[in-house]
Amino acid sequence: MQHSIVVLGAGYTGAVAAGRLARRLHSEDVTITLVNPEPDFVERVRLHQLAAGQDLAPRPFSEMFAGAGTGAGTGAGVELKLARVTAVDVDRKTVTVAAVDGPAREELAYDTLVYALGSGWNDEGVPGTADHAHEVSSRPGALRLRERLAALGAGRAVVVVGGGLTGLEAATEIAEARPDLDVALVTSGALGDWLSERGRAHLRKVVDELGITVHEDTAVTAVRADCVTTADGTTIPAEVTVWTTGFAVHPIARASTLEVTDRGQIVVDSTMRSVSHPDVYAVGDAAMAIGPAGKPLRMSCASGVPMAWQAADALAARLTGTKVPRVTIRYFQQCISLGRKEGLVQFVTADDRTVSRALTGRVAALYKELICRGAAWGVANPTAGIPSRRRRVVRQETRSRPEGAEATAAA
Ligand SMILES: Cc1cc2nc3c(=O)[nH]c(=O)nc-3n(C[C@H](O)[C@H](O)[C@H](O)COP(=O)(O)OP(=O)(O)OC[C@H]3O[C@@H](n4cnc5c(N)ncnc54)[C@H](O)[C@@H]3O)c2cc1C
Repeated sequence: MQHSIVVLGAGYTGAVAAGRLARRLHSEDVTITLVNPEPDFVERVRLHQLAAGQDLAPRPFSEMFAGAGTGAGTGAGVELKLARVTAVDVDRKTVTVAAVDGPAREELAYDTLVYALGSGWNDEGVPGTADHAHEVSSRPGALRLRERLAALGAGRAVVVVGGGLTGLEAATEIAEARPDLDVALVTSGALGDWLSERGRAHLRKVVDELGITVHEDTAVTAVRADCVTTADGTTIPAEVTVWTTGFAVHPIARASTLEVTDRGQIVVDSTMRSVSHPDVYAVGDAAMAIGPAGKPLRMSCASGVPMAWQAADALAARLTGTKVPRVTIRYFQQCISLGRKEGLVQFVTADDRTVSRALTGRVAALYKELICRGAAWGVANPTAGIPSRRRRVVRQETRSRPEGAEATAAA
């Protein structure tokens, strides 16, 4: 009997995990089903570009997975199922999915689940945000913002709330693309306060050159259709508000019996295996894994992609009876685009602490562009271009095995 692997979400981490498993395991021994609502890969790290009016290269999975193996659907050993996950039952080992364009529901059974549903924007419950603010963490959200910005006349006010990486990238991209708009950035701390001195100085220079008004040490407490209100009662005009204060994970894991954190992330061990359910792996934004210096990994591609490598390699090793390899997961830099012509690469320690070294200017913009291209290339080449051997499955975890029993069925 084939071992059924179901991967939920085809973002950076789910797509990498599925593609890597297809290259590690023999197609006669496993089925790999990748559930995603869209047939093409979304470069989430470029969604601020999409919102600002740029067109992103189409990346159909049928092309990206070409060469991973044989199989229906994607033609690559990975069966792409276009559907939306609505529930996971980790005790019955089933996933409920809904059709993308209708009410039809279906249940998928799995032997091993890889959970990679990522995250969405986090309105933090601030009044008016859900009704009036825009977001750039999903493609539909970025497209809505793009349409709204295109309809804005010269001199209109756009307020980006959030001074983290996404807020900086969104504000600078919009200001560069639309110099006729009045763009402001609201941040609860000082501008780029976690960056090195050189990084902060460069950021300030670019923001000033782009004419962005910065409101520092300011918390937004309400969003209305034409303004935002801050904690001290000030009103900042905002024809369009873009909310970027953080990401929130989907509530699906929390609604299951999986062990999750307060934020709803699945708690995993160093091989990305759920600490409560050994036949579930979780990667990317949806998982809480411990990184260097005992710190939780942050929601990012930078750590999410190695998490996916680790999960796929550990699962493949366990199924094929080989030694579980350890993938090094650490940080090197934070790459921030500041429009298309400017950028900032802030180098960091393995556990993501800022060091004094930073790259700035056009070189940094080019560096960031190469990182984005590399991330998309990495989805299509999930074993990093190194030829891999497809091993035969020697051990299978059966769906009905008693709790705690070691899986033994030969494939
Ligand atoms: C504008 C922007 C810029 C960023 N820049 C950077 C950067 O420079 N560097 C960096 O390291 N990180 C960056 N990030 C963060 C990075 O994009 C995320 O950490 C990364 O995408 C997480 O990968 P993931 O696979 O966990 O989730 P995602 O990439 O979000 O993928 C989740 C997938 O699950 C699918 N999905 C969601 N819900 C369902 C459902 N119910 N059913 C089926 N499928 C579903 C989604 O469609 C998607 O395909 C940026 C994020 C944004 C928004």
